[in-house]
Amino acid sequence: MVQGPDGGLVSVPDRATRGTEGHHVHSSLIGKVEKANRYARELDRISIDRLSLTFRGDNDTHAVTLDAGTWHCTCHYFASFGSCVHLLALQKIFGIMLPEEAQVSIFAAASPELAAV
Ligand SMILES: [Zn+2]
Repeated sequence: MVQGPDGGLVSVPDRATRGTEGHHVHSSLIGKVEKANRYARELDRISIDRLSLTFRGDNDTHAVTLDAGTWHCTCHYFASFGSCVHLLALQKIFGIMLPEEAQVSIFAAASPELAAV
């Protein structure tokens, strides 16, 4: 304790030993990071089993799920046609990480003009 400017006692932090150790980056950690970088490019290693997400479209926000290879979206278009622009966008984003049955676009079979967009 020392005397502060106002005459009161203030505590002085003990800075002799704290926070002086540098961070050691172990080679094993570097190996892990390199492996992660490689894995991040090898997307066929990843299989998405389930998805649950919020999709903010231009006009409205929709809840999209994927479970057991089956998509669901809360938008009106999905209710009528069983697929929609949200699923199409997600299929483009996740690509081969999706289960095979979830990669199939209904647009591709039923509406070539939409699939070409
Ligand atoms: Zn939708």
